[in-house]
Amino acid sequence: MKNHMKNHMINHMKKTDYLIIGAGIAGLATALHINKANLGNVLVITKGELKQANTYWAQGGIAAVMTKEDRFVKHINDTLEAGANHNNRDAVRHLVENAPKAIRFLESLGVKFKKEPALEGGHSEARIWRTSDFTGQDVLDQLIKAVQKAKNIEVQENADAIELIVDKDTCKGVYVRNVNGEEIVPILAKKTVLATGGLGQLFAKTSNTKAAAGDGLALAVNAGLELSDLEFIQFHPTAFDKYDDGRYFLLSETLRGFGAKVVNSKGERFLEEYDKRAELAPRDIVTRAIYFESMNGKVFLDMHHLDAKAVRNRFPNIAKRLKQYGFDLAKNLIPITPIAHFSCGGIPVNLQGATKLAGLYAVGEVANSKVHGANRLASNALLEGLVFGEVIAKAFEKNKEVDKGIELDENIVLNTPKIVIESLPQVKAYAKRIQQIMWERAGIVRNMDGLKLALKEITEIPARDYRIQHRQIVCYKLIQACLHRSQSLGCHYIANELT
Ligand SMILES: Cc1cc2nc3c(=O)[nH]c(=O)nc-3n(C[C@H](O)[C@H](O)[C@H](O)COP(=O)(O)OP(=O)(O)OC[C@H]3O[C@@H](n4cnc5c(N)ncnc54)[C@H](O)[C@@H]3O)c2cc1C
Repeated sequence: MKNHMKNHMINHMKKTDYLIIGAGIAGLATALHINKANLGNVLVITKGELKQANTYWAQGGIAAVMTKEDRFVKHINDTLEAGANHNNRDAVRHLVENAPKAIRFLESLGVKFKKEPALEGGHSEARIWRTSDFTGQDVLDQLIKAVQKAKNIEVQENADAIELIVDKDTCKGVYVRNVNGEEIVPILAKKTVLATGGLGQLFAKTSNTKAAAGDGLALAVNAGLELSDLEFIQFHPTAFDKYDDGRYFLLSETLRGFGAKVVNSKGERFLEEYDKRAELAPRDIVTRAIYFESMNGKVFLDMHHLDAKAVRNRFPNIAKRLKQYGFDLAKNLIPITPIAHFSCGGIPVNLQGATKLAGLYAVGEVANSKVHGANRLASNALLEGLVFGEVIAKAFEKNKEVDKGIELDENIVLNTPKIVIESLPQVKAYAKRIQQIMWERAGIVRNMDGLKLALKEITEIPARDYRIQHRQIVCYKLIQACLHRSQSLGCHYIANELT
C-alpha cells in the first residue's frame, strides 16, 4: 500500500467543557466525579473499544486500610518502602488516607467486594479488596455502566488522540483520528485530562493491552512537557509463557501468596538462592531470579502440592483461562516468563493533578505524582486512578466560575497536524522491532553499553507513521532516563554499576 501524507480535512469539530482521553479506571472515575459535581459536559474518548484498557485485566485488587488491625501509617510505610523512598510523601499520604473512600465509591456503583481482604507481597497487613480473581473486569463493568447512565457524559470509542491542541501556552483540547479512517477531528475543551494508561507495549513481553503504548506520554512531549521517572518500569515475574493477541496472560502474585512454588526445568525450587523470602520476595527480586534461571531452561509455577479443589475455587477465572490453553492450574507445571507490567513514572503532575501546561491534567498510570516512587506497591495502581481522579474533579470544582467564562475559539484549530499513515504490516513490523530492542537492551537487566546501543537503534528506525514515531519518542525518553541513573534503584536494575 502506498504511503500518504495529507492535510486532513476538518469535518466534525467537537466542543466540550471537560475532555478525558482514556477510558480506564482513571479516566472513568474522573468523568464520574466531574459529573457528580455537575460542572458541565464531559466527553470521554478512547482509542479502541471501551474495555481495551489495562484496568480490565487487573486481577489482584485494590489496597485500602479498612480493618481494625490496620493503620494508615502502615500502608504509607509499605508504599514508601516498595518505592525505595523515591516517592512524594504528601502524594502517598493522600493516596492512603483516601483509599477507604475510593472503595466506598466503587461500592456505591455496585462493585461487590469480598468481606475479607487478601494479603499481597510488600503489604504488612491484609488490605487488598477484591471481587474475584478478575477484580479489574468487575470494577470496569460498573464504571462503564455508571458512565453510560450519566446524563452529562458522552463516550466516543475508536478515537485515537494524536496531538494536543495548544494555543497561547494553554492546552485547548486534542486532535483525534478515527482508528478506522484518516479523518482528523479537533475536539476543543476547556480542560483536558490525559488518562491514557501505561506503556507495556513498548516491550516484546508484556501483560498490557495493545492500547498501552505510551501515547499520552508522546503527546505530552510533543506539547513541550518533560517526563519523569520513566526508568522505573515494573517487570512482573509470573505471566503464562504464551504470546496471545498481543500480550501475555498474567498469573497473579496471589497465586504465590496462596502457596504456588516456582521451579526450574529440573523441577527444583531456586528462589531461596536469591532471597530467603523465596516466592514471597519483592517482585523485582523474583523477576530477576526467574530471568537468570530462564537462561538455563524453562521455569514453571507449580501448585500440584496444594488441594486442587481449593486452588480452583480461589482462582476460577485464572484456572478457566489456562484450561483453554490445555493446562490444569491445580495439577500441571505452568510455564512462566517475566513481563513488562507497569510504568511508575510519567507526566509530572502536582497534587491537583495539573501538568506544567495550563489546561492539561494527567491521571492514572500516565501521570507521575510520585506516589509509587521507584517501584509500585502491589494493588496501589487502581487506587491511584480512583483517588487522583477525584482530586482533579475537586480542582475543577474550585475553578468552575473561571472555567465557565472560557470561550472556545474555533480559529485556533486551523493548523491540523499532517500525519503519515503507513501500511499496517509495516507499522506492525516497526513496532515489533522496537519491542525487541527495548526488551533486550532496556528490559529487566540493563547496562550502559546496551542502553546506548538501544538509543541508536531506536532512533535509526526509519518510520514515518505517527504511531511509530510516538513510540520512538517515548522509548528515547525512557532510555535516556535509564542512562541518567547509573545506579540501580527500585525496579531499575543496572548490571555493571559504576561505583
Ligand atoms: C494484567 C494486569 C494486572 C494488574 N493487576 C492489578 C491489580 O490487581 N491491582 C492494581 O492496583 N493494579 C493492577 N494492575 C495495574 C493497573 O491495572 C493499571 O495501572 C491501571 O488499570 C491503569 O489505569 P488507567 O486508567 O491509568 O489506564 P488503562 O486502564 O490502561 O486505560 C487507558 C485508556 O486510555 C486509552 N488510550 C490509550 N491511548 C489512547 C489514545 N492515543 N487516544 C485515546 N485513548 C487512548 C485506552 O484505550 C484506555 O481506554 C494490573 C495491570 C495489568 C496489565
